[in-house]
Amino acid sequence: MIDTHCHLDARAFDEALDAVLARARAAGVTALVVPGVAPGGWAAAARLAAEEPGVHVAFGIHPQLLPQVPAREDDAMLSDLEAALSRGGAVAVGECGLDGGSFGAASLERQAALLRAQLALARRFGLPVILHLLRAQHELLALLREEAPLPAGGVLHSYSGGAEMVAPYAALGLHFSFGGPITYDGARKPLAALRAVPAGRLLVETDAPDQTPRPHRGRCEPAFLAEVLRAAAAALGRPEEEVARETSAAARRLFRLGPPCG
Ligand SMILES: [Zn+2]
Repeated sequence: MIDTHCHLDARAFDEALDAVLARARAAGVTALVVPGVAPGGWAAAARLAAEEPGVHVAFGIHPQLLPQVPAREDDAMLSDLEAALSRGGAVAVGECGLDGGSFGAASLERQAALLRAQLALARRFGLPVILHLLRAQHELLALLREEAPLPAGGVLHSYSGGAEMVAPYAALGLHFSFGGPITYDGARKPLAALRAVPAGRLLVETDAPDQTPRPHRGRCEPAFLAEVLRAAAAALGRPEEEVARETSAAARRLFRLGPPCG
């Protein structure tokens, strides 16, 4: 299994990272993608990826970061991102995207400008994008349709949109990743969306430390990916091993991860 989205660089993991990674590997997680969300965190995430086999890093500017940063710093953040990507080692640009739902969110105009700049960097560096999308489904679709295509594709992480939006996003070459919410009671909407995902475009993630899958409680960690995978397989009516193999292959293709190690 591959956890395509976990924030191992989050403070929640400071103390326990070795144990968290050991539990993930014991649970069958062979690779993990850690999306950086802020310039201040990219270096630590890159160090983690350099030190730990199977851990990969992405660099991006998360839309939920913006309320804490004055808009006049946006250009400097983008220059930092360009420099970080130039140093190499990232498997994607992200996490970036549009957030129409968080309390105190930055204006969608500002979010869109930063997102467009990050899409341009993804094109320039030949990398896929990891997209955060919350309550801005139509806005993001319109923006992506206006933009030039993304040759290396991308993923809508923890997809929370409707099943009817899967086809238009898939037509843009995107993948769809699902996490803990598909294990929740009454998770009809995400499961309907999951079933609508075209073959080869489905990924799984934990979004750790958030979105803890049932029946776990408290802080989420990558070892819990097994529960996400089980729920995905059940929704598709297919064997878990098969879904594990397919989602891992899709993740390896998208992020160009190479063969599993250990
Ligand atoms: Zn995230």
